[in-house]
Amino acid sequence: MNHYYSFNDYVQQAFGQKLYKLSLNGGMSCPNRDGTLGSRGCIFCSAGGSGDFTPSPQLSVDEQIRAAASLVSRKARSGPYIAYFQAYTNTYAPLSYLETLFTQAILCPDIAALSIGTRPDCLSEPVLDLLQRLSCIKPVWVELGLQTIHPRTAAYIRRGYDLPVFDQAVQALQKRGLSVIVHLILGLPGESFDDMVQSAAYVGAALARQNLPAPALPIPPASGVKLQLLHVLQGTDLALDYKKGLFQALSMEDYFAVLFQCLEVLPPSLVIHRLTGDGPKSLLLAPQWSANKKLVLNAMRRAMDEADVKQGRLFQWPQ
Ligand code: SF4
Repeated sequence: MNHYYSFNDYVQQAFGQKLYKLSLNGGMSCPNRDGTLGSRGCIFCSAGGSGDFTPSPQLSVDEQIRAAASLVSRKARSGPYIAYFQAYTNTYAPLSYLETLFTQAILCPDIAALSIGTRPDCLSEPVLDLLQRLSCIKPVWVELGLQTIHPRTAAYIRRGYDLPVFDQAVQALQKRGLSVIVHLILGLPGESFDDMVQSAAYVGAALARQNLPAPALPIPPASGVKLQLLHVLQGTDLALDYKKGLFQALSMEDYFAVLFQCLEVLPPSLVIHRLTGDGPKSLLLAPQWSANKKLVLNAMRRAMDEADVKQGRLFQWPQ
């Protein structure tokens, strides 16, 4: 039984087959790292700019696609794939650079859709226009790292923009018929169960209330959320706070409890692109239970079935 509109269900419906994401590296930086807004990045962000599995940006787009495809070849012997520009902020470059990069990716015959990870404060009108033009060739999804709606947490993680900036970006993207995927982190220090669920409810309402124009292509929008467990990675400032004992990582039970409640408050039409995280095991400090993704997903499935049987009792947050 499926308890939510999963990414796999979506791609099957939209493309008629399973699609894998290829993580690519556009060779960009981030205003939170290059000194524009800050130099140490978001407190949880690894040195790889949250794109630790991407190929070298020295490779051409075609070479990166081939290299990334070989990494998923055990699961997918051939394409089509989703080209996912993941590392750092992928609209943080001159327009001509972005146009060349994204056009090379979207025109690749093995690529079915383009997914671009960026910040809502790095979406100028010319960039939005470019993304809209590209969406006439193949679907374009824009992934925004919001993580939380709460200002005190946003300040702690050094996100560097306020919530209205996110709201405006969502409206501008949806006005152009582009799919928006919002990243939320569950387990950020200082956040209560209710804080996390409020973030999910807010994002759900923001994505659902837009009057979407007909997409440029006859493929349903992929708008939705990535729900991610907070990973404490070695080498980050978050790891320093963790080692000082300033906060604890979520247990698996607590993560499932808050995750399931987030799923409850999200509109069922939204695609759930992720239910946990994919941090590099070599850097993972906590929580160690999250290192084996297969075990976590199996336990999650059992907990979902159990929650159905108990009719919601599992969703009670521990006192
Ligand atoms: S905006 Fe993204 S790439 Fe930049 S520091 Fe934050 S998480 Fe890292």
